[in-house]
Amino acid sequence: MDGDGKVHARGRVKPGDVTQRVGIEVMEARGVDVDNLIEKLIDAAGAEFTTYYYYTILRMYLAGHEDYKEICEDARLEDRAHFELITPRIYELGGTIPYDIRTFADRAGCPDAYLPGTENGRKALANPRDVLGTATAAQILEVLLEAERCAIRTWSEICDLTLGKDPRTYDMAARILNEEIEHEAWFIELLSHERDGVSRPSGHFRRGTPGEAPYSKNAGFYNP
Ligand code: ZN
Ligand code: FE
Repeated sequence: MDGDGKVHARGRVKPGDVTQRVGIEVMEARGVDVDNLIEKLIDAAGAEFTTYYYYTILRMYLAGHEDYKEICEDARLEDRAHFELITPRIYELGGTIPYDIRTFADRAGCPDAYLPGTENGRKALANPRDVLGTATAAQILEVLLEAERCAIRTWSEICDLTLGKDPRTYDMAARILNEEIEHEAWFIELLSHERDGVSRPSGHFRRGTPGEAPYSKNAGFYNP
């Protein structure tokens, strides 16, 4: 009971103490290892950032497949949206992304999505058609697909760590996971068609605008 006779929620953080966060206290009380979660979120944010970077290159080499190019662009911009969505959360939890981008790229939670035929980015691609004997588009689609699969595993793990304990991080991770699962379905459909001549529909038509990110970017309140 407080002075006003009402029962209020209370905890360990003292009034006016800005060195601690109730937003973290309540998570720890529910069993979240916050330091570990911050590290996982930094790795995951690094993977989104590097994937966004590599997809920029991969998209450039999809000439002649304008539909694939557009879908790659949606996945690329949505990965950037994921980076934007999750990075502020790292700071809310008291963390920071590395001050050196090299550190950030090195600790990314998913492998580098190199352009095929470049020996892991070390060699220039003289002729986009001469990649390893098979069609370039199929090889690029395979790289795109595996990047999405790593993302699904990453965000599922964050969901597991936060389910029922940290609704805010869980909500963000689940939004991102929704889009990563869509991305996997897109690239399964395209790779299956391109490489194997087999139809495996994804249910996808097209985003309204490039990189719309229907789950991870909310429409602004001022939109009519
Ligand atoms: Zn993503
Ligand atoms: Fe993705």
